[in-house]
Amino acid sequence: MNSESMLQVKKISAHYGAVKALSQVSLEVSQGEIVCIIGANGAGKTTLLNVISGLHRASRGEVILKGGALPPGRAAKAVARGVVQCPEGRQVFAPLSVMDNLLLGAFLRMKKEKARVEKDLKQILEIFPILEKRKTQLAGTLSGGEQQMLALGRALMSRPKVLLLDEPSLGLAPLFVKEIFRIIASLPEQKTSVLLVEQNAHAALKTATRGYVMVNGRITQSGDTTMLLHDKQVAEAFLGAK
Ligand code: ATP
Repeated sequence: MNSESMLQVKKISAHYGAVKALSQVSLEVSQGEIVCIIGANGAGKTTLLNVISGLHRASRGEVILKGGALPPGRAAKAVARGVVQCPEGRQVFAPLSVMDNLLLGAFLRMKKEKARVEKDLKQILEIFPILEKRKTQLAGTLSGGEQQMLALGRALMSRPKVLLLDEPSLGLAPLFVKEIFRIIASLPEQKTSVLLVEQNAHAALKTATRGYVMVNGRITQSGDTTMLLHDKQVAEAFLGAK
């Protein structure tokens, strides 16, 4: 194993009943690295994140965090070990305030690390000035882009070792897209490793250092993002080149 390896996915296959969604998927994320997975609708990207975070049980293969296997299909265990998923579609707690949503992200460590949680909250509000402005507002009253920021802020409040991001730019106005990728690019400074799933392939490849291409539940290509950005097949399939 690579000594800096944070997350290893080894030969994962997954099904929904008789439908095979993933075939022998393997990938790796090093400590403090941003890795992206690009692929069309239905390629299996969300399923892969759900397998890693324990929300979906793989039929084969294993997920390894810092050299130790994660128990399959056990989402609470994965969170406790530092693997946190920020799902597609925001999913904030609409009837709670922005502040309470953020504090819920730190729920597991609230008792033991109260002072640290307060410090982290301050930092998150600095990273996301819009959340500072809206902190007493109910989450359900925020705009789509603001809710996306909140979902990311809440995930960061749990101080993840590995953050799994599912389509963070989906449906956002261009200004928010730029802002969210700026924040993602800064995460390695906080020692967070990121596995980023995106249909906005251009932004994903610009933000990550390595990438994997997924087609019909399989990894078909992988490598440095500079190489993938200049690859003819990737350009034609995902970057709108002719
Ligand atoms: P998208 O970007 O549209 O979310 P994706 O790359 O994340 O696509 P998945 O959502 O992982 O792809 O879907 C992979 C395959 O599994 C698809 O064929 C999809 O139809 C199927 N699938 C996903 N969820 C279910 C489910 N709950 N039941 C049955 N089939 C499913």
